[in-house]
Amino acid sequence: MSGANTSTLGTSVLDRVGNTPLVRLDRLTARLPGVVLLGKAEWANPGGSVKDRPASNIVLSAQREGKLTAGKHLLDATSGNTGIAYAMLGAAMGFPVTLCLPSNASPERKKILAAYGANIVLTDPADGSDGAIRKARELAAAEPDKYFYADQYSNNNNWQAHYKTTANEIWQQTEGRLTHFVAGLGTSGTFMGTTRRLRELNPKIQCISMQPDSPFNGLEGLKHMPTAIVPPIYDPKLADRLVEASTEEAYVMAKRIAREEGILMGISSAANVATALHIAEEEVAAGREAIIVTILCDSADKYLSERFWQE
Ligand code: PMP
Repeated sequence: MSGANTSTLGTSVLDRVGNTPLVRLDRLTARLPGVVLLGKAEWANPGGSVKDRPASNIVLSAQREGKLTAGKHLLDATSGNTGIAYAMLGAAMGFPVTLCLPSNASPERKKILAAYGANIVLTDPADGSDGAIRKARELAAAEPDKYFYADQYSNNNNWQAHYKTTANEIWQQTEGRLTHFVAGLGTSGTFMGTTRRLRELNPKIQCISMQPDSPFNGLEGLKHMPTAIVPPIYDPKLADRLVEASTEEAYVMAKRIAREEGILMGISSAANVATALHIAEEEVAAGREAIIVTILCDSADKYLSERFWQE
């Protein structure tokens, strides 16, 4: 091997972020003539979720700008997928990661974070994701030299990841023919970034945001905006419509997608698909054709211990 150039062999974890497939959900739309429903298969990212995109953009930008220098910890508050993405990147790229999360986060996720070697700071579950955000702010303020506080809720590199990648991929994969885009709101990065770019490409695309209908419904990764800290990157004016989804309909849809499409997806993806199907029904009722794209944020792997799968 001596002297041979091996640098072109294989690929790195970082190179595998993005360029996810767009899958057709034809069986779900079988009774909706003229509608094509497409899901962006974000579980295909190396960390298993849509959050690999913002996390890698945040990390690479911070390194470029000299904010995440050698020895510094990346610190953030995350209920799960962003943390998994940071933990994976920290392991792959060689920086320590410290994450604040509510102690009632699922055992699967805590095990995944620990397996990647991340430091975990657990916060009171009664305070929800807002409690984890407050804890991260406290740690960052107490030891600014130790931490780079990534702050996914305020960091423009979050939504810009989707502006630069997700939206352009969707545009190319639909040959610019999509009519509707549907995405749920957590930090709102996915919706903000993808919508901003799609609107530039075609201002007529209807962009619909979705949020849980109650603060206690447990839709993974999503926020109930009226009661949560509103993310600074969120601009409610961007959406053509904001619709609500319930946990119950998301549970029903998750099982339906598993059995009718052969895809085990997480609960917020199921809520996205349920919302997209409501839009599809409206379009059919109005006599219009539609090509609807939504985000399949992650797979069901981390949530299979949730009771509804067994019911
Ligand atoms: N679904 C899941 C499973 C998530 O982890 C997240 C991110 N917290 C979202 C949806 C929401 O995405 P965003 O933060 O880009 O609004």
